[in-house]
Amino acid sequence: MSNRPVRVRFAPSPTGPLHIGGVRTALYNYAFAKKNKGKFLLRIEDTDQKRFVEGAEDYINESLKWLGMKVDEGVREGGDYGPYKQSERMDKYAEYAHKLIKDDKAYYAFDTPEELTEMRAKLEANNMSAKYDATSRMSMKNSLTLSEDEVKERLENGDNFIVRIKLPRNEEIRFHDVIRGWIVFNSSQLDDKVLLKEDGLPTYHLANIVDDHLMEITHVIRGEEWLPSAPLHIMLYRYLGWEDTMPEFAHLPLLLKPDGKGKLSKRDGDRLGFPVFPLEWKSPEGEISSGYREKGYIPEAVINMLALLGWHPSDNQELFSMDELVQAFDLERVSKSGAKFDVDKAKWFNHQYLMQASGPELLAMVDNELALKHKVRGEEYLIKVLDLLKEKVNFASEILPLGDYFFGLPSTYDEKVLNKKWNAETAEHIAAYITDLVTENKDTAEVMESHLTSYAETNGISKGMLMQPLRWVISGQAGGPPIFEMLELIGLESMAKRLQVVQERFPMA
Ligand code: GLU
Repeated sequence: MSNRPVRVRFAPSPTGPLHIGGVRTALYNYAFAKKNKGKFLLRIEDTDQKRFVEGAEDYINESLKWLGMKVDEGVREGGDYGPYKQSERMDKYAEYAHKLIKDDKAYYAFDTPEELTEMRAKLEANNMSAKYDATSRMSMKNSLTLSEDEVKERLENGDNFIVRIKLPRNEEIRFHDVIRGWIVFNSSQLDDKVLLKEDGLPTYHLANIVDDHLMEITHVIRGEEWLPSAPLHIMLYRYLGWEDTMPEFAHLPLLLKPDGKGKLSKRDGDRLGFPVFPLEWKSPEGEISSGYREKGYIPEAVINMLALLGWHPSDNQELFSMDELVQAFDLERVSKSGAKFDVDKAKWFNHQYLMQASGPELLAMVDNELALKHKVRGEEYLIKVLDLLKEKVNFASEILPLGDYFFGLPSTYDEKVLNKKWNAETAEHIAAYITDLVTENKDTAEVMESHLTSYAETNGISKGMLMQPLRWVISGQAGGPPIFEMLELIGLESMAKRLQVVQERFPMA
């Protein structure tokens, strides 16, 4: 690594909601920057005005914020290398395109769409690849084939033109990728890509390289889909004389569908029932795509899940806070092969973070209206219930529907327990046990448990025989959270009442 201070950028195009693969790219950039005490930039690449989508930029900002990736330099944050939005930097790009023309590294091309189609058809008919390149450009209408005067005249007349890069024929282009090692392309595999479009705006390639250079980016960490563009980018650095400070490249592996067959696409989310976007997105046409946030995922869980989709630490640690991730992160431990998306694992991560959440944090995750309905016994009580039941679920929203009986008498009684476990003997023991607790005011989980042990011993029965019927009398359920903690929370008064209800409804005597 060079000694320049590390500066990386996440450079999304605001063409729609940010895909979860893009979020992972942002995360790896962020972790790498923080690990190396560098800067994390957010650059909005909006040169393609045709694909611009209203709201997409805000969506990107909100997603990064929700996930805890603080941007050091960007449109909102400012910084010394701005503007951070390409549409506000348009004056910078043409200058470099013209410098390349002057240096004979690029040229004006005046071909009409019909002429281009004709060229392609001709080349294809001769079984040659239909590329505008070192071979074909000399038979086209451009500043390499037209006389200087004619070019001048066309430009002065305001004829339509584009600027293309002039790539060499049959030259090796080598570069080192931090994740993939040495990569070799041959320039003949490429075509003379457009640098400036007819409307005078730069293409992604030119704007991206100019900006990475001017913003002193040291590492380009981006998705594998950009690997085929990398040799062109290398050539641009070379042609512009910026090779010495060219960033290092790291092309991240693809995020694959759960079955490993192909790239995880926008449509997979709704098809397979999991979000592929961080936040819910409503398209300008009104179509809604689900988001991790609205589905009840905890941002730290999403970060943790994404961190391990393509990267692995040197040991088997699976749970990483953002700080731990930053400490452990290393681009060299990013894998070359695609990472399969696993929705069960995503839920597992959410469960882990739910388990770490405190009661008040859980309360904040529950829908307000639902929480309000469950405040019959006060907020503190509600918080304790949430805390007690969290281990049973993956999402905070699933907790309260499991625990209705904490907020009122059970509405149903599990039939299996009724038929198999509720008999004269258990009915008598449970009544005696609960009565003991009430008369002796044994109201903590610990005391209730030790009393059950001694009660069972005194009566020569097994403790296990009473556990499920006891739970059933109090909650109506066959299973649930740790029983004595549940009893302590429900309290002796309500327990006595519940016993009475069961005795009246399912009499055994
Ligand atoms: N604007 C490109 C994108 O949308 C950025 C690619 C890169 O990071 O170079 O993915």
